[in-house]
Amino acid sequence: MPFDYAPAPESRAIVDIKASYGLFIGGEFTDATDGTPFKTISPSSEEVLAEVSEAGPSDVDRAVKAARRAYTGVWGRLAPAERGKYLYRIARIVQERARELAVLESLDNGKPIRESRDVDVPTAAAHFFYYAGWADKLDYAGLGPAPRPLGVAGQIIPWNFPLLMLSWKIAPALAAGNTVVLKPAETTPLTALLFAEICQQADLPPGVVNIVTGAGETGRALVEHPDVDKVAFTGSTEVGKAIARAIAGTPKKATLELGGKAANIVFDDAPIDQAVEGIVNGIFFNQGHVCCAGSRLLVQENVYDEVLDSLRRRLGTLRLGDPLDKNTDIGAINSAAQLARIRELSDVGESEGAQRWSPPCELPEHGFWFPPTLFTGAGQSSRIAQEEIFGPVLTVLTFRTPEEAVAKANNTPYGLSAGVWTEKGSRILWMAGRLRAGVVWANTFNRFDPTSPFGGYKESGFGREGGRQGLAAYLTRGGPGA
Ligand code: NAP
Ligand code: MG
Repeated sequence: MPFDYAPAPESRAIVDIKASYGLFIGGEFTDATDGTPFKTISPSSEEVLAEVSEAGPSDVDRAVKAARRAYTGVWGRLAPAERGKYLYRIARIVQERARELAVLESLDNGKPIRESRDVDVPTAAAHFFYYAGWADKLDYAGLGPAPRPLGVAGQIIPWNFPLLMLSWKIAPALAAGNTVVLKPAETTPLTALLFAEICQQADLPPGVVNIVTGAGETGRALVEHPDVDKVAFTGSTEVGKAIARAIAGTPKKATLELGGKAANIVFDDAPIDQAVEGIVNGIFFNQGHVCCAGSRLLVQENVYDEVLDSLRRRLGTLRLGDPLDKNTDIGAINSAAQLARIRELSDVGESEGAQRWSPPCELPEHGFWFPPTLFTGAGQSSRIAQEEIFGPVLTVLTFRTPEEAVAKANNTPYGLSAGVWTEKGSRILWMAGRLRAGVVWANTFNRFDPTSPFGGYKESGFGREGGRQGLAAYLTRGGPGA
């Protein structure tokens, strides 16, 4: 008899969720003037967590004005090292309140507490620590001496890594001397609102960070606001294109971090057990709601059976269920809409002739769930091999030679990330030089570090976040009279 795990739920008593939240503008929570409040739920239970304000155009305008005042006022006059101190302070408070943030993230998003606790929150703190160090060293950002901030940044983030995406956006913007208006995703606003409290706790000057909650229309109002100098967006390629059209012909700068359909490539000389762990982490981490997920597995033909056998065995051991349980590997799908999309594309996969497989897996009665799923025998041009499913669904393809692996890996409109598993260093370098992907991981997958730039080619967007490059995206060259 295989043993089972007793429930090990993390207590939610640590987090105090308010019944309703206002918008965070000019350092204070204020009521929205023209939107209709909406509810955010826990996707694992469909329980309503809180009511959240919807920012309409006049609220977005108030937030941008508050950011502008802070930019031309107190934040703009502050010595760079002093800006750095605020960022260090925020980083430390994020660490101090890590458990609270992790529990809230898992409740609002549905991701396993093991991931929010061990990945999302620590990496978010690491981003603030890292960019805090840059605040007084902007001369070394690669833009010559005395580079200048851009001004007010409008930042829009998705629901898959709510706090982490917030930190990717806010930390470099503030380090460079900008002020921000950030819009979290409609389904996951709560950690951004807790972050607003952290800004108050850190005594951050009012208006430096403003948080406007709402859905797509709020994001659009922010993008189109004439006094926004820079748009930083993470989300779907479709919305990214709409944003690019909306700001074309304006002086607004932009970085767009969009979708992906990454190839995870396993050669026959790879350590297979390690590769299987990497494949699982590549696509089942965060329920596959990861832009850089290794959603296309490319296996060298002569190890196909061995890899697939191990992979199936390993999938049989994944535990799906309560996101707050410390033993959970796979949490809830973030929303009913996302679940419908995953189901639809999986059905398309079957109707296109691919074979679908999932381990025996009991799904909870309430909430949104999808079992870990493999597709084999899919055609290269099939929709499940081309389109981003953004769920726990892996499409398996094969190759014979390195050249074929490169050709198949690059055969997608996207170019965000890729993985290579082989014991030959020379082959890693050969592959990395030919893969059209912003990030190439070797013998690992889904590793994130604030010092390392991240971003895409082709329909995965442009611009980089993280590292010096991510800082430079919030700066312009200093000129005469600067
Ligand atoms: P999405 O629909 O594009 O939404 C992203 C954000 O944009 C949300 O806050 C959304 O608001 C907002 N938005 C929607 N329409 C808008 C508009 N017309 N103007 C301005 N903002 C608008 O994407 P999603 O479904 O939430 O996220 C999944 C996608 O994000 C995937 O394709 C994934 O690959 C991509 N992603 C990319 C990265 C990366 O770094 N490259 C990272 C994470 C995710 P509401 O959701 O509140 O309506
Ligand atoms: Mg939610």
